[in-house]
Amino acid sequence: MKTRYYHGQFYTLNESQPTVDEVWVEDGKIIHLGHHPIWRAQRSIDVHGWMGLPGFVDAHLHILGYGEKLTLLQLNKSTDKNAILKKIQQHLKSPFLYAQGHLEQNITKIDLDRLSSTIPILLRHADYHGATVNQALLNRIGLHHHPTGILHEAEAMAAVQSIPKYSKSELTMMIVKAIKTLQAFGITGGHSDDLFYFNGFKETLEAFEDALKIAPFRAHLLIHHLELTHFLESKRPWLNQNPYLQLGAIKTFYDGTISSQTAWMSQPYQHSKQFGERQFSLQDWEALLVRIRQAGLPIAIHTIGDQALDEVADWLTKHPVKAGLHDRIIHASFAKLSTLNKLKKLPLIFDIQPQFMSSDLPWALAMISPKTELIYPWKHYQQSQLVLCGSSDAPVEIPNPLLGIKAASLRISDHNQQVYQPEEKLTMLDAVKLYTIGANTPTYDLAHRGTLQVGNLADFTFFDQDFLKDEKKLASTSVMMTIIDNQIVYQKSNH
Ligand SMILES: [Zn+2]
Repeated sequence: MKTRYYHGQFYTLNESQPTVDEVWVEDGKIIHLGHHPIWRAQRSIDVHGWMGLPGFVDAHLHILGYGEKLTLLQLNKSTDKNAILKKIQQHLKSPFLYAQGHLEQNITKIDLDRLSSTIPILLRHADYHGATVNQALLNRIGLHHHPTGILHEAEAMAAVQSIPKYSKSELTMMIVKAIKTLQAFGITGGHSDDLFYFNGFKETLEAFEDALKIAPFRAHLLIHHLELTHFLESKRPWLNQNPYLQLGAIKTFYDGTISSQTAWMSQPYQHSKQFGERQFSLQDWEALLVRIRQAGLPIAIHTIGDQALDEVADWLTKHPVKAGLHDRIIHASFAKLSTLNKLKKLPLIFDIQPQFMSSDLPWALAMISPKTELIYPWKHYQQSQLVLCGSSDAPVEIPNPLLGIKAASLRISDHNQQVYQPEEKLTMLDAVKLYTIGANTPTYDLAHRGTLQVGNLADFTFFDQDFLKDEKKLASTSVMMTIIDNQIVYQKSNH
């Protein structure tokens, strides 16, 4: 059965035929671009002159974490102490209270203990690397004498892990909820890091398999390093599981975050005079890297600080990935100029979050050393021939690629509307490529994804305005329809 999408303005991102007005599809694959003089379509879809692009992919997010965010109480980075405490009180009920999006200022365990001495309260910090908790929760994790209840990194993770598990069907429903929201943002695929934080490798992966039967989506799941053994024991193939599901690189962390001052920097933070921290001892790190390489697998490393990036480049040079595969750097927010030459020689993909720039500047600049050489240096990375993938790190940022495209091409801070490092701007077309060609590179299936050409998957995103022709239209552009595997998974309603 042939489907014809007609009356469109398709940008194929394929140089041999850059724009077409029709796309023909059969069995989930593109079979022809442009008008066809003879064929008749069994199904014709009028796309009303909309701009059509290859389906957008978010290269780094936490689909299940995002589904949980859509379900849990959100403090929305509020700084009004009384308003936060009141909100918590309203939602407080047994067996526990778990809220997200907290900024750590003002509130300590003393405030939370006044709300309840028996119901554990956990306020997860907006950066997901910290948590503020009450004594009832501290008792659960054996920290009976903690002075403030404000926890970071491993202690915060222990607090989160102490919350009772979701059932598998609850996980499935949270994944479906997340996917439906992503589809409404025009997203047809996502590379997600979830296979540890919830019910572990096996059950979380099964929840994804169940969810993808309900909500089609191209999911590519990173394997958390603490689940490597479970993956190897599962005897599952690496990479392709089914047309909607892949297993990807081993996810690890080299450092922390700027807001927790745990990103590993070459210059000290302005106030603490500290440099941040590595997440592992060098010995443990190398042992992990060797284990991953012995399994023949690539690695995806959370790397924010410029010193962290420099050291990671050295480690990947010392323990290279198997020929034909590539490693991934997640974030790469800051860099030293001298690191670029090391990076150029490595088979590396960078998962960048353009929205971090617009939401972290200028406050991040007030924390890090003014001597930091490169700040969200996307143009420098591009000129170093690195593959750049666009992503949101949702639930950290809103997974709306149009916001990412705006940040990558305009570099305007959300806080003061100022432009930062204009020399690092990407063109709007290159910003679109972050979420199409770039974000599909880690699937090892660029031959069938990321562009519109014969043989490629029928995944499309449609917008009401052509922001590539007129960049000023980006801010008022809406997603009109999202197609995955030739199925309409989202359509904007008229009202
Ligand atoms: Zn992340």
